[in-house]
Amino acid sequence: MAEPALVDVAERAAGYLGAYVHIPFCEAICPYCDFAVVSGRDGEVVRYLSAVVKEISSSEPIRPVDAVFVGGGTPSHVTGLADVLDAIRKRHGIARDAEITLEANPEDWSDDKAVDLRAAGFTRVSFGAQSYDPIVLDYLGRRHTADQIDLAVTSVKRAGFNSVSLDLIFGSPIESDRSWSGTLERAVGIDPDHISTYALTVERGTELSRLVNRGATAPDADVQAQRYEMAEEYLGGAGYRRYEVSNYARPGHECRYNLTAWAQGEYMAFGMGAHGHLGGVRFRNVRKLDAYLDAIERDAIARAGEEWIGGANGDRADGSDEERVVLGLRRTSGIAMDDVAASFLRHPAGGRLVEAGVIAARNGRLVVLKPLLTDEVCASFLASRS
Ligand code: SF4
Repeated sequence: MAEPALVDVAERAAGYLGAYVHIPFCEAICPYCDFAVVSGRDGEVVRYLSAVVKEISSSEPIRPVDAVFVGGGTPSHVTGLADVLDAIRKRHGIARDAEITLEANPEDWSDDKAVDLRAAGFTRVSFGAQSYDPIVLDYLGRRHTADQIDLAVTSVKRAGFNSVSLDLIFGSPIESDRSWSGTLERAVGIDPDHISTYALTVERGTELSRLVNRGATAPDADVQAQRYEMAEEYLGGAGYRRYEVSNYARPGHECRYNLTAWAQGEYMAFGMGAHGHLGGVRFRNVRKLDAYLDAIERDAIARAGEEWIGGANGDRADGSDEERVVLGLRRTSGIAMDDVAASFLRHPAGGRLVEAGVIAARNGRLVVLKPLLTDEVCASFLASRS
């Protein structure tokens, strides 16, 4: 059977409805992590999941969801996620062919957990593998071994999930070319359906940033660019299609939830720190555990803020156009060549990027040819609109 074209895969997602559920609990906080997470608060798991179920059950019913993403934090660190899926099912429905993803850490995984989560309805597991090199795993503060990654992936396959994905991090200062190529080889060797590769970044407020501020070596952007290219070449050669700046999949295993977000589709959001997009409004929940629990238990909403973007139901606002380009250009298939894209190409900034071979018009689409420069392309586009 012919592989589905990436353009079709990307554009179909605009019509999906997603649901994001945030599970913030982690065994310990990794030094580079700036997500909305807590550790040492496991005593609140039951209370938190009840609050999430309550938030879901009191949300405005929309329609059956096409993609659920239970992310974190470390969802595999807690039990009771079947109740969360049940609440979504009861309130909104879940489409028969929905993708239902769970983020997991390899050290939490077991065959029993795989069977239970598959029975609860999860169809996809995304593991925070990060590296197969024990020295890099240690530097990143991870608590699993390389062998645990392989055992977890094998267990997921045996339990009959549709897809399994590995997240990998490259470009830490102690990593070598050999270490990164070894990680890529071992990752491909266990044959996941999907692989995400992210450059290590130093985010403000993290332990890593404190260390770097005190003189520890920071990641080197040029080295990271070279490691990115190593990944692209190796994974492409192994039959993975890059469909977004950092994401590769066997055809048919692209992450539907993420594609929905990049296509400016709609998604609900539940849990602390969760972000959603509905009816032309982007919104986010409070980022602190106690504030979230307090709001939901008082029958209040847990929103920290919202922003009108426009774009729903054909009602396009300027913000929607800009966001559509910035999100859409992350995809290998780019964006449709409409008036906004065409005017960027006519603008001197767009023209310079075409001449430099960074962007191009191809088959009625505007695409980024050098994915590492996507942020620069987007900044240039936004500047051309001001
Ligand atoms: S396990 Fe994941 S979410 Fe938790 S602290 Fe580490 S990187 Fe952050």
